[in-house]
This record gives sequence, C-alpha cells and structure tokens, in this order.
Amino acid sequence: MTPTSNDPTLAVVRLRRARRVLLTCHRNPDGDAIGSELALAELASSFGVESVIVNRDPAPVTLSELPGVGTVMVAETLPDDFPEGYDLVITVECPELERAGFNGLDQAPILNIDHHRANPAYGEVNYLDEEAPAVGEMVWAMFKAAGVEPSVEAATNTYVALATDTGDFCYSNARPRAFRAAAEMVERGADPPTISEWVHDGRTEASVRLLGEALKNLRFGCDGRFASLAVDEEAFARAGADSTDTDEIINIPRAIGGVEAVVFCKQWEPGLVKVSFRSRGRVDVCSVAASFGGGGHTNAAGCTFKTDLETARRQVETSLTELLGGQG
Ligand code: AMP
Ligand code: MN
Repeated sequence: MTPTSNDPTLAVVRLRRARRVLLTCHRNPDGDAIGSELALAELASSFGVESVIVNRDPAPVTLSELPGVGTVMVAETLPDDFPEGYDLVITVECPELERAGFNGLDQAPILNIDHHRANPAYGEVNYLDEEAPAVGEMVWAMFKAAGVEPSVEAATNTYVALATDTGDFCYSNARPRAFRAAAEMVERGADPPTISEWVHDGRTEASVRLLGEALKNLRFGCDGRFASLAVDEEAFARAGADSTDTDEIINIPRAIGGVEAVVFCKQWEPGLVKVSFRSRGRVDVCSVAASFGGGGHTNAAGCTFKTDLETARRQVETSLTELLGGQG
C-alpha cells in the first residue's frame, strides 16, 4: 500500500533518506507553492540532502523578494540529468502529477505534499492534509517533526505561503491552526508588515492595467450573487501583461456586497482558457471546477478549458447559476 498520512513524520523520514531531490509545484505558482518549495529546500539542506527547484512557469513579481527565490529555475522540460541525477521528486500542491507541467516526472520516486481536496495519492509517499490552511504550514510541521530549527528565511517563506493561501488570515481556512503556525513563524523572525508590502504593494503596472481590462466586461448572474470577469489575449497585450499579472484581480468583485462567488476566465494563449473561482462560506466552487476536470478548495478553485474564451465563460456561468440556484 502507498504510505499516505497527514502526519509529517513519514515525509521527513523519506526526505532524510534522499541524496538529491528535484522540487516542483503546480503551473503558474503562487505564494504557497514557492514559499513551501524554498522552505523544503532549506529542510533538505539541513539533512545534507541536495535539492534543485524547477518550475514550469515563472512566479509573480510580488514573490520576488522571497529569500532564496533566485535559486528557483523555470524550464519547459526537466533538467538534462533527470532522472539519473535524482533519487526523489517532491511535488508541492499538485493534485495531479500533470499539474506540474512536466513529462516524465514519475521516472523517480515521488513524495507528494498537498492540501487540495481529492489528491489521489500518486506518490511513493504522500503527505496529504485537506485540513491544512496551506502547504507552508505542513512544511513548518515537518521542521518541527524533524527537530530542525527553522531559520528566519524558512519562517519568512512559510509565512508567505500561509498568509497568501488564507487571504491574509481572512478566508474560511483561517482557523486556529493557521494562527498558531503564524505565531510560531513570527516568533522565528517572519515579519508580517514587510511580507505584506512585498505581496500587496509590489504589483506591476501591467497587473493594474489588466484589472482595468477585466472590469470593462464585468457581468453578474443570479441577481448579483456571482460576478464574472474575463480577459483575452488582446486584453493581455493592451495591458502589457502576462500570466503572472492576474493574481489579485479576482478579489475586487468578491468585495462587492451580495457577491458570493466570482469566476475569472483568462486566455493568454490561443485555445486555452484558465479559469479561477473564489467564493464565500458554504458556496462550494470546487465542485464546479471539478465538474470541468479541475479542483482546489471549497472557496478557491480552478480548471482549464481547451475552447475559446466566451464558450468557457458561458459554461462556468451556467454551472454557477445552477449551484447558487440550488442553494437559494
Ligand atoms: P487559482 O485560481 O489558480 O489561484 O487556483 C485556486 C485554487 O484552485 C488553487 O488551490 C489551485 O491549486 C486550484 N486549481 C486551480 N486550477 C486547477 C486545476 N486545473 N486543477 C486542479 N486544481 C486547480
Ligand atoms: Mn495552497
């Protein structure tokens, strides 16, 4: 049977046994993915285990101050010395292996670390915890289980992971467990005001211009209970934006009174539409994302369509109408 646990010990034991690790995460990485990878690289190094971080897509510029972020490589294919040069792959936040965006990752043993719903435990070892507020919190627990003192850098990186995935401790995953871990990270040197400045005040001009493009076609459904946004390739071009500039846009209509869910459809290359969902309370957008082959969490989810933008947008709007209609 594949060892699967929400206890960090198995993951620590497996990492300690490795000699050289390839760390990777889901496409279009966010704060939880990058922060967790960097902290894991430090934990590996404390065991004398070498590691290399390789992601398929670049991180948003708001994460460019993270300690050690310069070591993160971005590539379309796995390194030339893979798999021979590695005896372990760690996937961070990949509910399916394909979400990492690399072919052939399964040629080495995998340690799968995730907090998404319905991760099928595809690893040799699986450290999975749906209840975890962020993978960064799970990595923090690995330091504790290993008896390794986290550095200021590890505290900072895991705090970024936790703060971004909980929406600055405002989403429904901001439960006592998140605050306990945050308190420990701050005790170890993470500085919330500095991190908040990096993450919120380090935006690009292009991301604000893209917000303008998205708001031009803002529309609502179910009597204002959901909002819908979309940007196509031309909008990206007018804004001078790329896939890393989309992050906070979805939160703007979410702040409108009465809006329970938001969907944001993004098309930055022909024939491919990346859809993000956010919601409040019991409105389960993960079920909608999952019905289109995606996934995520109750209040934050996503999926991908291989169609044109308007077709994808109509389909997800119809599903949201059904979801909210059923919840009257
Ligand atoms: P995003 O809108 O990209 O920030 O994603 C919100 C949440 O949904 C994150 O936890 C993602 O990992 C998850 N998610 C996004 N896209 C997908 C997908 N295609 N399949 C599974 N989960 C996804
Ligand atoms: Mn996460």
